[in-house]
Amino acid sequence: MNRDVMVIGGGVVGIQAALDLGDMGFRVHLVEKKASIGGRMAQLDKTFPTNDCSLCILSPKMAECSRHPNITLHTHSEVTEVTGSAGDFGVTVHTMPRFVDEGACTGCHECTQKCPVKVADEFDMGLRMREAVHMYFLQAVPAVVSIDPEHCLYLTKGRCGICKRVCEAGAIDYEQQESEFTLQVGAIVVATGFDPFDPSVLKPYGYGKHRNVITSMEYERLICASGPTGGHLVRQSDGKPAKRLGFIQCAGSRDIKHNRFCSSVCCMYATKEAILANEHDREVRSTIFYVDLRAAGKGFQEYVNRAQSEYKVDYVRARVAEIMQDEMECPVICYEDTVTGESRSETVDLAVLAVSLVPRRGAQELADVLEVELDEDNFIKTAPFSPADTTRRGIFACGYCRGPADIPESVAQASGAAARAAEIAMGSLELVGGRVS
Ligand SMILES: Cc1cc2nc3c(=O)[nH]c(=O)nc-3n(C[C@H](O)[C@H](O)[C@H](O)COP(=O)(O)OP(=O)(O)OC[C@H]3O[C@@H](n4cnc5c(N)ncnc54)[C@H](O)[C@@H]3O)c2cc1C
Repeated sequence: MNRDVMVIGGGVVGIQAALDLGDMGFRVHLVEKKASIGGRMAQLDKTFPTNDCSLCILSPKMAECSRHPNITLHTHSEVTEVTGSAGDFGVTVHTMPRFVDEGACTGCHECTQKCPVKVADEFDMGLRMREAVHMYFLQAVPAVVSIDPEHCLYLTKGRCGICKRVCEAGAIDYEQQESEFTLQVGAIVVATGFDPFDPSVLKPYGYGKHRNVITSMEYERLICASGPTGGHLVRQSDGKPAKRLGFIQCAGSRDIKHNRFCSSVCCMYATKEAILANEHDREVRSTIFYVDLRAAGKGFQEYVNRAQSEYKVDYVRARVAEIMQDEMECPVICYEDTVTGESRSETVDLAVLAVSLVPRRGAQELADVLEVELDEDNFIKTAPFSPADTTRRGIFACGYCRGPADIPESVAQASGAAARAAEIAMGSLELVGGRVS
């Protein structure tokens, strides 16, 4: 039995699993595709149902992970091959070059300030521009920059080189190459999360055509104090404050043409987003157009009740047919009130689509590498009465990659998966058939 364990995916869930395993005394390899750990939670402003600041909770966990003596972070990395079996897997990790010496970079941002290239910032959902040499976000872990090889002038055209000249630490390294290494681990925990569904295929909603129709992820960045507008909720067409908001639920979810499942967190995060808007500006009025309201978690119904009574949030049971826009580029939400059966419309400053949350792009490729099965919605298949166990023994799944779940539930799953992985890595359980008994 090998006492090393691998965690794939460094969102809040992978971080929790890594910390639990590290604290138990296992050596943990945390493999993250992006330049920083943190995942989607790092992009959120506050979290329901307590409205705690998302990064205030996440940042200490990220820092703990990077300082933990038993945890090694492998950023810019992906798993490409798994051999062996439970208790002794051989895992090949492919690492893309950062073009920056992680040990030397001080995160001073001298290079980012001088870089002449501007491209849409993925972390800010394209609502802000960033440089080719950049830090993934301000609180990134590791707190070092990386160079985007698709847009760097030196790497694409052999000219510029400013970042190297201004870096007093000598951290820029244009010669860095892709690398591959193999690790022996006893168990693997998968926590690769979700991607937001692209709503431009929902043609009647006008996303991508009407500038004031945005997604819930874009909204999170807009309302965040460290986001592209400094937390000012403004219309995308003219930068004026948005006073009337319309939240359109189930955009791509519970829809047999797109994703038949319920994304499970949208009713609550729309409620949170409407509350936050009213906290920022008491004049803001929000309407949530819902199919049916799913407020099943602890304290969730009370949260919805508070949104109605204290923050003047209106809930309309409706099916939104179309979003048009008037001459001021205000979205006009056309819907059927499913209580009265009447057709109505409401004009707002910003329409926010609660887009479906789907398995990560590449979920099938990763499943093939790990030799685990996916379910009919492409989430990782797990055992009903042993919910962290995948179809391959020694490999466990937790968080959004195994099915829709909010942060508290996902973090509990992470601890469950970590405990199962620990059992295998310790060799304390007998392996029977296809599953640990
Ligand atoms: C708009 C919005 C608002 C929300 N608000 C709330 C809220 O207020 N409260 C709440 O409880 N929940 C909220 N949620 C849900 C919450 O975001 C998720 O429950 C949570 O982020 C799931 O965490 P995760 O670690 O499973 O996934 P993620 O956060 O997606 O992290 C997965 C990580 O794995 C990495 N990864 C992916 N593929 C690979 C690979 N092949 N190899 C290596 N690494 C990989 C990714 O880069 C990422 O870092 C909200 C969701 C949305 C969309």
